[in-house]
Amino acid sequence: MRVLVTGGAGFIGSHFVRSFTGGDEVTVLDKLTYAGNPANLEPAEGRFAFVRGDICDAGLLGEVVPGHDLVVNFAAESHVDRSIAGAGEFVRSNVLGVQTLMQACLDAGTPKVVHVSTDEVYGSIEAGSWDETAPLGPNSPYAASKAGGDLIALAYARTHGLPVSITRCGNNYGPYQYPEKVVPLFVTRLLDGLDVPLYGDGGNVRDWIHVDDHCRAVRLVAERGGAGEVYHVAGTAELTNLELTARLLDALGAGWRRVERVPDRKAHDRRYSLTDGKLRALGYAPQTAFEQGLAGTVAWYTANRRWWEPLRKPAP
Ligand code: NAD
Repeated sequence: MRVLVTGGAGFIGSHFVRSFTGGDEVTVLDKLTYAGNPANLEPAEGRFAFVRGDICDAGLLGEVVPGHDLVVNFAAESHVDRSIAGAGEFVRSNVLGVQTLMQACLDAGTPKVVHVSTDEVYGSIEAGSWDETAPLGPNSPYAASKAGGDLIALAYARTHGLPVSITRCGNNYGPYQYPEKVVPLFVTRLLDGLDVPLYGDGGNVRDWIHVDDHCRAVRLVAERGGAGEVYHVAGTAELTNLELTARLLDALGAGWRRVERVPDRKAHDRRYSLTDGKLRALGYAPQTAFEQGLAGTVAWYTANRRWWEPLRKPAP
């Protein structure tokens, strides 16, 4: 199968390329923002063609998209804190970029498109879980831009019959994640003997999933997902940030004196939670238990200082 992976040099997209495209003819299209890193794709060297480019570039997409049987879109600005500091790039890549890509897929007659999204589009839920029919209520500019992209993708399915499916997933962890996100940030700082910043009262709840399970779900939706349908990818470990911090401190043999309390993130969603029965009906089951996945992740950052050390400097 000829597969185009947009955003394939980022954390999740590169895992998809490395682990879920064996036997495919793969093109990676990536703008290589601060979060895109060719080193993430080194283990797949020789198995893909690389195009440096922007999903907002209609001319480029008109050349690259035709001929692919499957397009999977991971390209996005992805860090909530950055969207609070400045939302422009988020709207550009996550809304206009999705529209430009959907139009290119429509023009090319792409047989299958998967657009990768997030549980954050729903806002915050105190108790219970969202199913795929829940109304969108995003709070951060990041989440709002992802919701906008999702709605544009669904509009292309409904209006033009574009065969696009959407996945919405909880918080990912795993190797090759840019060390601004909480798991690699805490692990790399603890490895360096530095303190770690914990937002607010630490009571915010996230449902964690190993990147490998997320990518397995994306591949399954590419193969069996319906056009215009949304599929949730739920996590395997619902934890408060305090609980997550305790596990990371434990794994690195550090104590609570290494934790620095910092003012809470603006509009910090308290809790996300998804039901995933629709995806499980396609045959999905997660394969990585949280304890095992987190231990493997900590071991990876411990062994791969060469990968993350150059990324610790403040990115532009
Ligand atoms: P990431 O920031 O690590 O990677 C994003 C990639 O997209 C980078 O390689 C970057 O260079 C590229 N990119 C950004 N803008 C682009 C543009 N305009 N054109 C082409 N390439 C562009 O993000 P990630 O964590 O790998 O997330 C991938 C996708 O999964 C995103 O859509 C994100 O919203 C979604 N998601 C992430 C999580 C998570 O926990 N990380 C959870 C659910 C959903």
